[in-house]
Amino acid sequence: MKALAAHRCDLELPDLSPVLARRVTVLGSTGSIGVSTLDVIGHARQFYGADALPVEALTAQSNVVGLAAQARKIRPKIAVIGDERLYLQLKEVLSGTDIEVAAGRSAVIAAAARPSETVMVAIMGAAALEPALAAVARGTTVALANKECVVAAGTVFHRAVAASHAAVIPVDSEHNAIFQVFRADDTDEVDRVTLTASGGPFRDWSLERMRTATPEQAVAHPNWSMGAKISVDSATLMNKGLELIEAHFLFALPVEKLAVVVHPQSIVHCLVSYVDGSTLAHLSAPDMRTPIAHALAWPRRISSPSRKLDLPGVAQLTFQAPDHERFRCLVLAMDCMKSGGLAPTILNAANEIAVEAFLGGRIGFLDIPRAVETTLDKSPAGNVEAESLDGVLAADARARELARNVCQRMMT
Ligand code: NAD
Ligand code: MG
Repeated sequence: MKALAAHRCDLELPDLSPVLARRVTVLGSTGSIGVSTLDVIGHARQFYGADALPVEALTAQSNVVGLAAQARKIRPKIAVIGDERLYLQLKEVLSGTDIEVAAGRSAVIAAAARPSETVMVAIMGAAALEPALAAVARGTTVALANKECVVAAGTVFHRAVAASHAAVIPVDSEHNAIFQVFRADDTDEVDRVTLTASGGPFRDWSLERMRTATPEQAVAHPNWSMGAKISVDSATLMNKGLELIEAHFLFALPVEKLAVVVHPQSIVHCLVSYVDGSTLAHLSAPDMRTPIAHALAWPRRISSPSRKLDLPGVAQLTFQAPDHERFRCLVLAMDCMKSGGLAPTILNAANEIAVEAFLGGRIGFLDIPRAVETTLDKSPAGNVEAESLDGVLAADARARELARNVCQRMMT
């Protein structure tokens, strides 16, 4: 398997102007990553000049007010709202501007297909898959924050990237960190790639206490401010499980070379160990604007508004092994990574449904791994389907339906 992430290139750019002239599209601009991306762009315009990083398109699912406010400030050519019932409202709030307006799922996908040098994929969940593939098909640079689309459709994504020669730049902090320190002509030179995990808000909680955890407690992450779904994934450690699968595809690494270590300070984002005994790590303050700025400027670097690392302030960096008994989701994800085929697709779909049910107060925190495991047990394998987009979408839909029923039964 070839690596999905773009290869380091020796592109010679005499000055920053070609980088700053890149047009950027932000899919999911009103979310946590989207807002941080616009913050990096705003900073670049202040720092380098108002023309820096012109924006082609912004998209959001339902937050019309937020999207319109962003559009008025950042001046994209087009603003797209995913929920088509909100078209007139968006049109109304952007009247008097020259910003084009569109709505609906197909308009979000079309926005990804518009000409731009960089597409930031910051939509939450497997809903990002088709928009991401539309960007990939153009052979452009895809700054990939979304992990669910790679987990759900790794093989399909691979093929699409290979066919179009798109450059995939990982934005997920651990994968962006690996991308920065991974330098191997052959994965045989790599002994192990270790992703760090903060351990989430329940790192030291007993299983008994976790049973009663509320959505408010689960989304209160100690180090990162993120969207609700990824925050719950961080609390169950499913996030780290999804990230192992993401790393497996992005860097073409065999399962046995991937590991997780809990590092509560979230300063070291990855460790790449080579066969000669060297280990290279990436450190930064826990601030997504750092990997976002890296992805927007790659292979150069631009100034970003992110918090800078203060090691004396951090004082201590500690590491511990993850607890597989309390964090079952991590084990389920590792098993699915080993099984391959559609197992990661089903895992991801079931998890999205279970997290939604938990956030809606319909199931408990420890019901999340139970719901995912039951859905996996009830699902047929069907590895061949993992090779086609239609097969993946069908398996995703089937798993969601099953998981909904499983969650429903848990409530009664
Ligand atoms: P979020 O929930 O804050 O924002 C999601 C964005 O996607 C919003 O703009 C929303 O309008 C849009 N969206 C939601 N559903 C959509 C749909 N069906 N169609 C089109 N657009 C839709 O999420 P986030 O925390 O910014 O995370 C986004 C992605 O980035 C996730 O895949 C997450 O795993 C990944 N990621 C996030 C962080 C982080 O710090 N937040 C870090 C690493 C990776
Ligand atoms: Mg991450």
